[in-house]
Amino acid sequence: MLPYGRQSITDDDIEAVTAILRGDWLTTGPTVAAFESRIGELAGGHRAVSATSGSAALHMAYAAAGIASGDTVISTPMTFIATASMASMLGASVIFADVEEDTALIDPAAVDALVDDKTKVVAAVDYAGHPADYDRLAAVTAKVGALVLDDAAHSIGSTYNGRPVGDLADITTFSFFPTKNMTTGEGGAVVAKDPLLAQRAHEFHFIGLVRDPDRFRISTEGAWHQEVHEFGVNYRLTDIASALGIAQLRRLDHFRRRRQEITRRYDIALQDVDGVRLPVQRANVELVRHLYPVRILDGRRREVFERMRGDGIGVQVNYMPVYWHPVYADAGYRRGMCPNAEAFYAEELSLPIYPDLTDDQVDRVVDSLIRALR
Ligand SMILES: *Cc1c(COP(=O)(O)O)cnc(C)c1O
Repeated sequence: MLPYGRQSITDDDIEAVTAILRGDWLTTGPTVAAFESRIGELAGGHRAVSATSGSAALHMAYAAAGIASGDTVISTPMTFIATASMASMLGASVIFADVEEDTALIDPAAVDALVDDKTKVVAAVDYAGHPADYDRLAAVTAKVGALVLDDAAHSIGSTYNGRPVGDLADITTFSFFPTKNMTTGEGGAVVAKDPLLAQRAHEFHFIGLVRDPDRFRISTEGAWHQEVHEFGVNYRLTDIASALGIAQLRRLDHFRRRRQEITRRYDIALQDVDGVRLPVQRANVELVRHLYPVRILDGRRREVFERMRGDGIGVQVNYMPVYWHPVYADAGYRRGMCPNAEAFYAEELSLPIYPDLTDDQVDRVVDSLIRALR
């Protein structure tokens, strides 16, 4: 089965990891710091804090933003559930704003209709690798003093008006799961423009330990001392994983190019095929395209999915609207509240796209799709 996404690993990646296994630091060492500084540079020069997953990064970002019960987080239903559920777990009420009909990105006008004084964070998702409209989102959140969060699990390496993902929102989270644009196995990161937010994210993922003597509230102890002011968790990424991350970052330009080539090959092969609608891209963005989401028209998505799976093509569907999950339905969320997201979900089919996918394999996917549509 051709998967819809998968990692690309070279001998350099393997050597980077084995070198760590032979060294002194498996975790909390200098390679973690080096990886964080490389991610921070790529993300516009802000501080990055690594994490054990993209979901962990979201949990850290919301905790750093001080999200607690009584707060509202506005997000998109067209995402993996963690974008919303990590805020729900901290007690926030999550409100879903509908997406734009064509891009499936959170619609700033829909957000504008929902923000109020309780809104602490507006969490956008760069679905398929396409940055959301951060200029318009910032204009909306400025009115109520809310932060903008970019769940950039799909979009590391993409740009918006020439600015890199990581520099577009107040807080950005990445995932380095194997299907994403680059991998550390499991892994993630938080990038924050405000150094205090970044430090809060760091402490939250490090058990809440405070190590800066200037901030100590206990002054009687020796040089061994560290203390906790707020509870935290252990979401530390290892040096092993960080070494893989540094090696993968060196190949991000290659990953961008190859994902763009595959996009072009699909765009050309499918442009005149009846019964499919191709993904759109705004003029002000450049993508490291994570997903190639086509829309299968005429109510035929399930049939086309099953036929292509039968052909050994690992097509996927991204995503069922988040509030359809029973955990949200049980809490009273009703179907029908975001019609654009539901219409998109009804038709969406993700075709395989990843750097090691060959042109011949792309052509096989195209043939399978065209035959499934006959
Ligand atoms: C993958 C993903 C996550 C979660 O990342 P993990 O590393 O799998 O925990 C969050 N949001 C989106 C949009 C994702 O695609």
